[in-house]
Amino acid sequence: MRLKTLELNGFKSFAQKTVLEFGNPIVCVVGPNGSGKSNVVESIRYVLGEQSMKSMRGKSGLDLIFKGSKNLSKGSHASVSIYFDNSDKIFKLENDNGDNINLNFDTVSISREVFSDGLNKYVLNGTEVRLKDIHNLLASVNIGSSGHHIISQGEADRILNANIQDRREMVEDALGLKIYQYKIKESTRKLERTEENMKEVTLLRRENAPHLNFLKKQVEKFEKGKVMQAELTVLYKEYLKKEDVYLEKEKAHLLAERNKIKSELESVAGKISLTEDKNSSAGNKKIEELRLVEKKINEISAVKSEMERKLGRIEGMIEMEERRAEQKEDVVEISQEEVKSVINEINQSIDLAFGKESVSEIRDILGRIKDILKKFSPEKGETANKNFEIQNLKKTQNEILAEMAKIEEEEAKIRQTIEKLKEDLNKETEALRDLEREKFTYKVRHQELTSALELISIKEGSLKAREDSFQNEMKEGVALIGQEILAYKNHQISESTEGEISQEDLKRKIERIKIKLEDAGLGSGVEVMKEFKEVTERDEFLAKEMEDLTKSIESLKKLIADLKEKIDIEFKEGVKKINVEFQEFFSLMFGGGTGSLSIIAPAKKKKAEKEVEFDEEEIEIEMEEEEEMLPEGIEINVSLPHKKVKELHALSGGERSLTSIALLFAMSQVNPPPFLVLDETDAALDESNSRKYGDMLEKLSKHSQLIVVTHNRETMSRAGALYGVTIGANGASKLLSVKFEEATQIAK
Ligand code: ATP
Repeated sequence: MRLKTLELNGFKSFAQKTVLEFGNPIVCVVGPNGSGKSNVVESIRYVLGEQSMKSMRGKSGLDLIFKGSKNLSKGSHASVSIYFDNSDKIFKLENDNGDNINLNFDTVSISREVFSDGLNKYVLNGTEVRLKDIHNLLASVNIGSSGHHIISQGEADRILNANIQDRREMVEDALGLKIYQYKIKESTRKLERTEENMKEVTLLRRENAPHLNFLKKQVEKFEKGKVMQAELTVLYKEYLKKEDVYLEKEKAHLLAERNKIKSELESVAGKISLTEDKNSSAGNKKIEELRLVEKKINEISAVKSEMERKLGRIEGMIEMEERRAEQKEDVVEISQEEVKSVINEINQSIDLAFGKESVSEIRDILGRIKDILKKFSPEKGETANKNFEIQNLKKTQNEILAEMAKIEEEEAKIRQTIEKLKEDLNKETEALRDLEREKFTYKVRHQELTSALELISIKEGSLKAREDSFQNEMKEGVALIGQEILAYKNHQISESTEGEISQEDLKRKIERIKIKLEDAGLGSGVEVMKEFKEVTERDEFLAKEMEDLTKSIESLKKLIADLKEKIDIEFKEGVKKINVEFQEFFSLMFGGGTGSLSIIAPAKKKKAEKEVEFDEEEIEIEMEEEEEMLPEGIEINVSLPHKKVKELHALSGGERSLTSIALLFAMSQVNPPPFLVLDETDAALDESNSRKYGDMLEKLSKHSQLIVVTHNRETMSRAGALYGVTIGANGASKLLSVKFEEATQIAK
């Protein structure tokens, strides 16, 4: 890597485009006071990202733009470009993720431009970049931002004036440790951001946790419920199927039973009514008949006894008449006609008597007959025909006897009928008794069957109740589980060998699970599951993020620790190396004595307020904590030959200059920067020291390109190329390549 060209455009006094070529290891810039030499040095600081306006002798970016003169108008912007040879591809740049950005250019160019509104722009090989990128890029080639490789006019002893921490920074920068510091800063910032993220994520998770917990419990409940549902489904199918089969079977069984009983009952009832019919028709008629016949016989008896009585009277009359006839001679004469009419009258009366039933009527008739017969009585005095009367009486007696015989015959006939009837009735009663017995048996059977039928009804009733509860159970099951339980119809009843579970047991189990299920409340399960999934996924995502963040925090912490350790080690080793060189340059410049750096312990200290700088990015960094643990510092120890003075502030200006130069050169020797800019660092040197200075320049130029602003002839004599700077009447600096002789002239 080599510095090739510097190009100024409108920067400070360089109104026009001005180009410096760095083709030689030592390039000197010479010119009269105020010609713009220091502006060249500042342009290098500027393009490399200098933030301190003070170190560029300005108050704002505007001071860096050509201000104009009598004949030249002021510029609208100032730009400086610097070109490096990168054929060895040494420049490196990483993006924010730590990946290398391709910088495969033979020439690396950096440009910085400032506009009248104070805005800055950095361009790397044509691409606008951030200041941070410029710092990182330069750190990769050991060009630190502390500017230890650019020594401005009068700033040679800056390191002597600086406090121990700033010195440490300069030394670190010179040792090329700045790049690690940047990385630490970057990593620390990343760490803070990561920790911030972590806090946020932790908070989010904490906020989520109760909800997640709640959902988890719900889901557990739901899943338990699901298991129970599945269990319940199995039980339900088994139960319902069994119940269904049982009900069907039982129904059919009861129906068959009922039909059987019913048909038997019908036949029994038929038989009963049949016996009842027989019973009433036969017996009653006969009894009625008997009663009538017996009545008749009674009547006949009455008639008979009346006749007997009549007969007795007639016999008495006959007896009396015959005796009278015996005693009296004259017998009453009665004509044949009269007798015939009397007989006729009596026969009619008898016939009438036969037609009557009542005894009194018959008696009346008999009375009349007696009256008729009175006509023939002897009281009438008709004694003539007493025989005739006896004959008549005998005739009547015979008639009555004939009538009696007729009645007796009839009576005998009736008695016969009675006998027959009684016999029949006896027979019938016997038959009736059998019938009764049979009827009783049927009635008993009827009763039995009726009871059996009632029992069937009761059974049917309870079967109906069981069926109702089966239907209810099914409805409940559907409500709890869904239509799928209706598939019980296709269910195969399990045939367990170890005794079948009874329906009661099944039912009990079902009830138990149902209660638990109702308690679990499965209602919004689907939504809960969905929400739980979402919240879990989110939590898992956050957990994963936490894990990633934790990992990156760990790796950042490790990186920071490693970098700190690396810096610490390299710093200590670097200081040792610097001390070797320092001692050598010091004794060379002073012709003896000792010079060394020592590391001193860190101290707690309030951070001094920093100068206000114009790039926000930097300000941010400077605004950090007010109090911090300061890193170790650097102390400079000197001991001049033949002098007791050891305090730095007690040294003379020249001595301070020599000490600074010795230290600067020592630092540059240990870790040579690609180039070193020295602005009149040799101003305070006398002739012999100027020579020693010149020797040191040549030594340094082996490893670093040197850009040296000087008025010193000796110094000029060591340069490979010389630029003369002049300022014209138009107020613009002008640059021209000159020979040594010209240079010494110009410099005056
Ligand atoms: P010396 O040898 O005395 O150190 P020098 O050669 O280093 O002098 P500089 O200090 O570089 O000179 O130049 C200063 C000159 O640049 C001054 O004349 C100043 O007016 C001029 N200058 C500074 N800023 C601007 C600007 N923005 N526009 C125009 N001229 C400027």
